[in-house]
Amino acid sequence: MNRVFWNPRVIFFLLLTFAGLPCATAQDDATAALLDRAHHLSASFPDSTILLADSALSLAAAQGNVKQRIRAMEEKAYALTDLGRSEEAIAIYFEALKLCRPPGDNRQIAFIYNQLGYLYLGENDYAAAKNYYTLDLAVHRQMGDEKGCGNQLLNLAGVHRLLHEYDSAVFRLNELEGILTLKRDTLLEGGLYNEKGILFQTTGVPDSARVYYKEAAQAWALGHYDSQLMRALFNLADLEAGQKRTEEALSLYLESDSIARKLHLFHEQVLTGKKIGEMYAAMGNTALAYRYLQDAASLGDSLKIKDDAAFASRLDREFRMEQNRRTIQDQQLRIRREETRLLFVIIISVCAVFLLVIVFTWYRFRQRVRAQVEAAKATFFDNVAHEIRTPLSMILAPVKVLQKKSSDPDEKKQLDLAERNITRLNELITQMLDISKIDAAHYRLNESYGDLQAYFAGIAATCEAQAKEKNMKFTVNVENFPSHGFFDHDALDKIIGNLAGNAIKYTPPGGEAGIDISVTQKDAHPELSISVWDTGAGISAADKERIFDRFYRADPKRGTDARGAGIGLSLVRELVTLMKGKIEVESSPGNGSVFTVTLPLRLAEKNASSSAENGETLVLLVEDDSDILAFNRSLLEGETYKVITAGDGAEAAAVLEKELPDIIITDLMMPGRDGLSLLKEVRSSAATEHIPVIILSAKSAAETRITGVREGAQVFLSKPFVPDELIALVRSQLAILEKQQQRYRSANEDREQTLEERFAGTDPFTQKFFALAVQHLEDSGLSVERLAELMHINRSHFQRKMKTLTGYSPSELLRIIRLETALQLLREKKGNVTEVAYRCGFTSQSYFSKCFVQRFGYAPSVAGKP
Ligand code: ADP
Repeated sequence: MNRVFWNPRVIFFLLLTFAGLPCATAQDDATAALLDRAHHLSASFPDSTILLADSALSLAAAQGNVKQRIRAMEEKAYALTDLGRSEEAIAIYFEALKLCRPPGDNRQIAFIYNQLGYLYLGENDYAAAKNYYTLDLAVHRQMGDEKGCGNQLLNLAGVHRLLHEYDSAVFRLNELEGILTLKRDTLLEGGLYNEKGILFQTTGVPDSARVYYKEAAQAWALGHYDSQLMRALFNLADLEAGQKRTEEALSLYLESDSIARKLHLFHEQVLTGKKIGEMYAAMGNTALAYRYLQDAASLGDSLKIKDDAAFASRLDREFRMEQNRRTIQDQQLRIRREETRLLFVIIISVCAVFLLVIVFTWYRFRQRVRAQVEAAKATFFDNVAHEIRTPLSMILAPVKVLQKKSSDPDEKKQLDLAERNITRLNELITQMLDISKIDAAHYRLNESYGDLQAYFAGIAATCEAQAKEKNMKFTVNVENFPSHGFFDHDALDKIIGNLAGNAIKYTPPGGEAGIDISVTQKDAHPELSISVWDTGAGISAADKERIFDRFYRADPKRGTDARGAGIGLSLVRELVTLMKGKIEVESSPGNGSVFTVTLPLRLAEKNASSSAENGETLVLLVEDDSDILAFNRSLLEGETYKVITAGDGAEAAAVLEKELPDIIITDLMMPGRDGLSLLKEVRSSAATEHIPVIILSAKSAAETRITGVREGAQVFLSKPFVPDELIALVRSQLAILEKQQQRYRSANEDREQTLEERFAGTDPFTQKFFALAVQHLEDSGLSVERLAELMHINRSHFQRKMKTLTGYSPSELLRIIRLETALQLLREKKGNVTEVAYRCGFTSQSYFSKCFVQRFGYAPSVAGKP
């Protein structure tokens, strides 16, 4: 059975069954194939037939194919009958009968009635058997099937006989005889005569019985129905034995036995063997009697053993079949469960992906919309701010004029009030504009190198003056502080201005406030720490959480009547974040507040600019003789110059990569690279071309001196030299440079000259700087780094060279160019203050005004006035 079960075709069809393929025709084909297979196997492997029929049954049921269901039931019941499981078979036949629809299904119905008759006969329920055979006969009659009718008449005659209804039996046999006269059928003829024989024998008419048995034997012999012939001969033998005609009986039994042997019918062999033994015994031939009886007994025993073994193996098969059925059911269940789970997972994944796509799209959409809204807001603010600022400046200008003219203290007071409020309004607009720019990511930091100490001194002065008006003390404490560094003046102005303004605003008169500024190191990077403190009203814990929110204002009843819009701290936080710093607040009601801002600080690189920033003069000494080098070094250091040294031209060139000296003193003859080659390099590099060079050489021939000067040396001093002469020469060269700076400075202060005129007289390097600055004037993000890049020079050399040439750092010079251009534009009335400020690269008008006033001593708004 296992062999059959694992047959690939069976597995294929079973798989088809389990897979529940949606295609109906494919399933019908699969069921038909299963049924064919079941039918083929039913003779030898009834168990497999049952299994296959079950699968076909469920497949057909799922498909609603009634015909195939009936067929599957028949196959199963047939196999069950084979296995002797009559009750189950009967139950299935009844089920099948319910599905059958006459007359279409008459053949099936007839088959089932016949099977039921047969099964009930086996169960010795003759009445039921008679009933089903009768029904079967009726169906066959209806179908006009004479052969079928004949079979059922014969069956019925047998049943009637068993029920002792002999007349009925004879009646049925006569009927059969009638059919056979019309149509010969040796099989049925033999059956008819045999049944007649049995009937006569049973009713005690042995002579007639003998005649019919012989007739039957003859008919079956004629038709070569051997097993039937054997039956007729056996019946006849039994009859003769009953009549004590032992010899006749013996010969008939022997004939019957030989057929049984030929057909391998073992049960029949046992019966005939036993009978033959008895006959021999009756005839007194004990030896033969013993042999036949002995053979029959041992064959009977072995058959019994075989039957028992067959029964055991049947039980075993059934058990395994049941197991297989369960495994298949489990597999089906598991497959279905896995399918459901898979489906579930797929649905969930699809939903999740779908959801993610929606969320992502929504997020992108929101971001885009927000960016558009912020940009629109920024443009709107920009426009509105400009619209408000212009009339404001038109109000401020006459107020200022009136302030100057007015001598009446009362009137002056009124005008001061007007001026203060205009300024406040202006600041508010600037702050809102800044915030909207930050929101739209349009705000650009503008870091430049500058004097930190001077800057904070300016802040201190402003705050102190502001505090004084309110009768408050304001202290600025600067600790551990470098003089110069890179910082965004404008942003820092806004941060400190707001924090210090709040400290003064929210502290009652008589109180104290101040700023503590220090530079600390964090992970080896300098940080600027600005703490703005006050002894004012303080801030509650709940307010502390929200004061940085836009438009949030704490409860004004806390003891101060300060007005505001609630945007100052919000702007401060945005700027601090933009500058990659942080802000913290410590405060409690009644105990004042401390706002601490920490910002990363970039100090100027030490090497190149340090001596310049310190005002030190840097001298590069190039000399291969160590004694002369040491002597000259101490000589120059005695003059408070800072000295760096190099052993030859190559070493000096390497030094020049990092340091930019104010003057170079070099020997001519040196191992490695000589002084002339160094001189050529100095003159050909943009960074060093301006540096004065003094040649100090033992080669004093006129030719050498001429070559030196021709290559660009300022002075040729022959060795041995008088130390004072060297010092005097160095001084004179430095004085020339200084004069140049002064000339430039004074030219710069000459208000009569235009910018172009002022720069026209300078060296080519400064002129190039001027041209680039003018070209990029509107770019508020133009930094020293960018300018150095445009000038093809490294930033530190650029700083130092500009300072040496002009006396100004590049950022100072850039600011001067911006402001002078602004002044020129205002004078020529080429725009209002705001427009001009923006055209000259200032992002904040207040910062522009501050710088403007610092440089020219009056506000930009009055610049255009006659
Ligand atoms: P404004 O001052 O215009 O109201 P700010 O954003 O500058 O807006 O400040 C928000 C709030 O934080 C203020 O309304 C005030 O209540 C509180 N605040 C700010 N600085 C201080 C301070 N130094 N002392 C007490 N409260 C302060």
